[in-house]
Amino acid sequence: MARSRGSHYSALRRVARVANSGFGLRKTCNAIAKSTARAMQANGCRILSLNARREYLITVGTYGLSDVYLKKGALDARKSLPDILEGKEVFIEDATKDERVQHPQVALAQGVASILGVPILGKGEAIGEIRIYTREPRRFSEADRSFLLSVANVCAVMFERAELQQLLELGYRASERRRKASRASPLPVTTLRPTVFAHPSEEDFAKVLDFYCIEWLYEPRSFPLKWEGDKIAEMFTPDFYLPELDIYVELTTLKQSLITEKNRKLRQLRELYPDVNVRLLTKTDFTKLLAKYGYGPLGEAKVEGVDRVLYSHAQIQRRVKALAGRISRDYAGERLVLIGVLKGVLCFMADLMQHLSLPVTVDFMAISHYGGDGQVVKITRDLDSTITGQHVLMVEDIVDTGMTLNYLLGHLSAHTPASLRVCTLLDKRARRLINVPLDYVGFEVPDEFVVGYGLDYKGEYRNLPFIGILRPELIKDEEPA
Ligand code: 5GP
Repeated sequence: MARSRGSHYSALRRVARVANSGFGLRKTCNAIAKSTARAMQANGCRILSLNARREYLITVGTYGLSDVYLKKGALDARKSLPDILEGKEVFIEDATKDERVQHPQVALAQGVASILGVPILGKGEAIGEIRIYTREPRRFSEADRSFLLSVANVCAVMFERAELQQLLELGYRASERRRKASRASPLPVTTLRPTVFAHPSEEDFAKVLDFYCIEWLYEPRSFPLKWEGDKIAEMFTPDFYLPELDIYVELTTLKQSLITEKNRKLRQLRELYPDVNVRLLTKTDFTKLLAKYGYGPLGEAKVEGVDRVLYSHAQIQRRVKALAGRISRDYAGERLVLIGVLKGVLCFMADLMQHLSLPVTVDFMAISHYGGDGQVVKITRDLDSTITGQHVLMVEDIVDTGMTLNYLLGHLSAHTPASLRVCTLLDKRARRLINVPLDYVGFEVPDEFVVGYGLDYKGEYRNLPFIGILRPELIKDEEPA
């Protein structure tokens, strides 16, 4: 269905206004994705940014797409519609049948039919892309295409500006100190989009960070350490900056003797810039870290069961805080009883309750599954206190088939609480057998076995600070032949 140029024009005006709103990049991109999808009468839109090494496409804004579709993993830039990154427009009429689509089964499950993608070009080079999705097969009009290209141009300017802002913010605190010491001179900064690492170990480290979904910048800035008059006589450029953790990391895979010199520089840096967090990772620290993820010289000695990280620690913390905010608003002025089922819920419960601004009490139950297929539930530890007449929030780690939760809700309602709602961190909706109502959901997860952040496999992995997907072969090995 074609729309008039007039409505595209007013949508573009909206997009430009949002882009200039001064909100953070993600919030702005989400709003642009919404306006764009609506203007094109599409069901979804996704704005993607190419990572620094041009290997992955990272989602920076979305509208109308389910969590499962988004979290099917970072898109491999070489496999996922690579023509777009070569500067071409790509149109797919039926995503479920087109071999150019990386996850056709997900497209089918999520009801995506047509996709239109255009590159976001910065100085003539693709730095990201915008994709439009529709549920019904559809051909896009010329006006739709040129509208999308205009939105891509707005995004290009926004991406460049966000990078610049990031650099300015990184440099701000330290440059303030330097100015106070009346030795101000412009800070040299290196590019945010390196294609070549100075050392192979840095590339390995970047892989580990990508595995963890931890954002990183390579050599984003240098810290002057000594001045001769107005000239910088010595400076230090840490290898990485991790914005979410606000930490600079310097790798030292060189001889031990050279570490002493780096330590001297680090001491000086900490004295001159006390607000800056910087860590030195020695070869031993680094090798151990790599081994945990199957990389490096020790990597083969240990079988790591996690296939990939689904949600990083920082992502989980942000989501838990947002859920707690909603719950606090919904129950404002009330007292709340939180009930968790041991042991999977322990990390989630601990974090969630700390962010609730309500008077709360906490109680736990324990259950065991028995019966041939393990689907019959038995309560092995019941509540300590009565919940009759109280507002109860059942806190769950993951809802899969819904059988456990359904049984527990039946058990709790028999105690006639004033209200009974459910908050689950993870919702594996694709496997639902019983339609239990979920009032608060952290993330919708794909049909895979997940571990970490309290969730176990045979008692292990609960201590991982992230949620990862267990290597499927570990579970398959257990199935009868
Ligand atoms: P349901 O009764 O909804 O099928 O199962 C819920 C329970 O199954 C959860 O409380 C959890 O113990 C377990 N479960 C289901 N899916 C997963 C998963 O992906 N990872 C882990 N660790 N446990 C799961």
